[in-house]
Amino acid sequence: YGLTSADYYFNSYAHFGIHEEMLKDEVRTRTYMKAILQNKHLFQGKVVLDVGCGTGVLSMFAAKAGARLVIGVECSEIIEQAKLIVKANNFEDRIVMIKDKMEDAKLPVEKVDIIISEWMGYFLLYESMLETVLFARDKYLKKGGLIFPDKAVLYLSAIEDAEYRAEKIDFWDNVYGFDMSCIKRLALTEPLIDNVGAQQIVCPTVPVLSIDVTSVKKEELSFAVPFVLKAERNDFIHAFVAHFDVFFNHCHKPLGFSTGPQARTTHWKQAVFYLDRELVICTGETIYGTLASRPNRKNPRDLDIAISYHFSGSQCEAAKILRYRLH
Ligand code: SAH
Repeated sequence: YGLTSADYYFNSYAHFGIHEEMLKDEVRTRTYMKAILQNKHLFQGKVVLDVGCGTGVLSMFAAKAGARLVIGVECSEIIEQAKLIVKANNFEDRIVMIKDKMEDAKLPVEKVDIIISEWMGYFLLYESMLETVLFARDKYLKKGGLIFPDKAVLYLSAIEDAEYRAEKIDFWDNVYGFDMSCIKRLALTEPLIDNVGAQQIVCPTVPVLSIDVTSVKKEELSFAVPFVLKAERNDFIHAFVAHFDVFFNHCHKPLGFSTGPQARTTHWKQAVFYLDRELVICTGETIYGTLASRPNRKNPRDLDIAISYHFSGSQCEAAKILRYRLH
C-alpha cells in the first residue's frame, strides 16, 4: 500500500533474477563489453557516468578500460549488491556507487566525459528510461562528451502468423465451449513480446525511427512516422512486428547489435502487433501506414501505440487504426 507505479518499476529491478536475465543476454552484454574494452583510448583517465548501473557490470568494464572515476547511479536495492561486487573485484578506488534516482542524485563531480547506459526496453522505448539518460546528458555530460550507445533505430515488418494468432487471440472465441471473446478484444490491444521466425516475414523490415542519443529531445520520443511495407511473396499478413538495433559509433571499430527476427535472440525478443483481420497480399503489393507512440498520460512508463494502415491489394482491401497499450 502507498506504492506508486514508479515504486513497482524500481522494485522489479531489486531482485537479482532480472539482472541474471540481462547479464546472460550475451548479445547485449558482450556488445557493451566490446564497445568499452576495445576502446581503452576513449576511457583512459576519463570520468564516466553509468546511468542505472544495476549490478555494476558496465561500471566495471569502464574501470577496467582505464577510467579514472566511474559513478554508478541506481535507485533499486540491487545497488547494495553492486557495492559488494565492486569491493570483491577491487574497484573501490575508482568506482563510486550512488543509491538514488538519477534525477535526484548528487554527483561528486560537475561534469563527466562519458555516459554509459543500458536503457532500452521492449519496443525500444518501453519504460521510458531513455528520458533519464537524456536528463543525465543535459545536466552532466561535458560538451563533446560521448554516449554509449549513441544511436538506436526502430524497424517495422509484417508477418504471417496464423498458427500463433489462433493460439493467442482466437483461443478466446471458444474456451471449453464458452464464449470469452471479450478477452479477445483486450488481447488484441496488447503487443505480444515474443520471438518471430525469420521465415514468417512477408514484408521485409524497414527503418521507421532513428534516435541520435547525443541530440534527441524528450519531446521527440512521442512520434508519428509513416511507413511503407512491400510484400516479397504471396502470403497472408496477421501482424506488424517492431524491433530495434543499437549502435556504438564512437568505437574504433563501430559496433552494434540487432534484436530483429533475423538476428540471434535477445531478451527483448520482438513486439508483435496483431491486426484486427487477416490480409491477403501478393508479391509487390504495399501496405501504407503510420506508426505512432507516446507515453501514457496517467502512467508515463506505459506506451500508447497506434498503427494506422491502408491496403488496397488485388485480393483484399483494408484500412484501419489499431490502438495498443504496452504495460
Ligand atoms: N546497467 C545494468 C542494468 C541495466 S537495467 C546492466 O547493464 O546490466 C536498467 C537499470 O536502471 C535498472 O537496474 C533500474 O533500476 C535502473 N534505473 C531505471 N531508471 C532509473 C533512474 N531514473 N535512476 C536510477 N536508476 C534507474
